[in-house]
Amino acid sequence: MNIHEYQAKEILKRFDVPVPCGRLALSVEEAVAAAADLSGQVWVVKAQIHAGGRGKAGGVRLCRSVEEVREAADGLLGSTLVTHQTGASGKRVNRLYVEQGVSIAREYYLSLLVDRESESVSFVVSPAGGMAIEEVALASPEKILTCPIDGSAGLTADDCATMIAMLGLGEAAAAAFPALAASLYRAFCESDCSLLELNPLIETTDGALIALDAKMAIDDNALYRHADFSAMRDLDEEDPREIEASAHGLNYIALDGRIGCMVNGAGLAMATMDIIQLKGDRPANFLDVGGGVTVHAVCEAFKLLFSDQQVKAVLVNIFGGIVRCDIIAQGLLEAIRTHPMQVPVVMRLVGTNEEQGRRLIHEAGLDVRWAADLDQAAELAVAAAKGI
Ligand code: GDP
Ligand code: MN
Repeated sequence: MNIHEYQAKEILKRFDVPVPCGRLALSVEEAVAAAADLSGQVWVVKAQIHAGGRGKAGGVRLCRSVEEVREAADGLLGSTLVTHQTGASGKRVNRLYVEQGVSIAREYYLSLLVDRESESVSFVVSPAGGMAIEEVALASPEKILTCPIDGSAGLTADDCATMIAMLGLGEAAAAAFPALAASLYRAFCESDCSLLELNPLIETTDGALIALDAKMAIDDNALYRHADFSAMRDLDEEDPREIEASAHGLNYIALDGRIGCMVNGAGLAMATMDIIQLKGDRPANFLDVGGGVTVHAVCEAFKLLFSDQQVKAVLVNIFGGIVRCDIIAQGLLEAIRTHPMQVPVVMRLVGTNEEQGRRLIHEAGLDVRWAADLDQAAELAVAAAKGI
C-alpha cells in the first residue's frame, strides 16, 4: 500500500525523523489557514498524489506570501497533474500539504528497501539528490551506494561512516547522520515498509538534516499489524479495477496490454504473461485466482475482465491442482448471466475435474476456444485479440 507524503511524514515524526512543519489542506481556505498557522515568510504548497516528479510538473509551489499560498492552492486543487510517474492521463489533486519553507544548502538521495540481492534491508544513498534516481543510475552509477544492513547486527557505526563518506556530509550533518539513519531504519522495520524514500533528504544552511520529501510503501501482508495505517489508504489513488479485485480477495494487478488473463498460481501467471509477450501481444493484467478460490470469486474475476474496455481477448490458463476446473467453469457461467461474453475467450483447462469443467461449458453452449497447452493458448489469444 502506498501512502501520501504527508502521511509518511506523520509516521516519520513518531520516530524522531526531522521533517518540516506542515498541515494538510483539503480546500483553499484550509491552505490559507494552514499558512497563517505556520509561522515564517516562505511556504511550500505540495500536491498530494501517489506519484513523484511533482516538482517538475508544477505540483510543488514555493510561496512568499499568504496571498501566493491562496493562488497556488486555488490552481492546484482539482487540477490534474501529469508527471513522469502518472502516465499520460495524470492524477487529480484532491489534497494539499502546506509546509514551512526550508532553506536548502544541499539535496541528497536516501532510501531504504527490501533488497532481494543481499537478502536484507538496504540503504541506498547518493549525493545526487532531488532528481530521479533512475536517471542518476543510468548517467552516473558511481554516485549511488547500496549499503546492506545485517539484520542481526542492525545498523552499525561502520555502515553510517560508509554512507557519510559517500554523501560527502559536512561536519555538523555527519554528526547528525547516525541518529537519523537509526531512526529511519527503525521506522522502516517497525512500520513493515517495503520502501521508504527521501528524495531529497536535505542539509540546511546550518548543517541540519531534514526529510524534505517522503515516499512510503507498506507491505500489504503486514497491514493487519497496523490498524492506524489502513485508515491512510486513499482509494482515489488506486486503480478502480484493483480495488474491486481486492474486495474479492483476488491477486490482481492492472497492466496496459489487451489480453485479459485468468490464471492460478503466481508463477504460472507470470509464465502466461511472458508467453503472451513472446507471441507478440501484451497482457491487460496479472491475475492469480489462487488455490482455494470460490465460484463467486471466479465469477467476479470474469466480470472484471469482461467489463474492462481494454481487454480484447481473455486467456484462461488453469492448471488444476487445488483449484478445481469445474469451479472455474461455474464461475464463468455465473459471470455471463450479467456480463455476456463480448470478446473471445481462450481456455486451457487441465487437471482436477477437467472433464466436468469442459462439460459444463459445452452444455451451456458457450463459444470458447480450447487450447491443449499454454503455447497454443497464447497463440490463440493473440490471434483472437487481432480479430482472427
Ligand atoms: P517531487 O518532485 O514529487 O519529488 O517533490 P519534492 O517534495 O521532492 O519537491 C521537489 C523539489 O522542490 C525539491 O527537490 C526541492 O528542490 C523543492 N522544494 C520542496 N520543498 C522546498 C522548500 O521548503 N524550500 C525550497 N527552497 N525548496 C523546496
Ligand atoms: Mn521528491
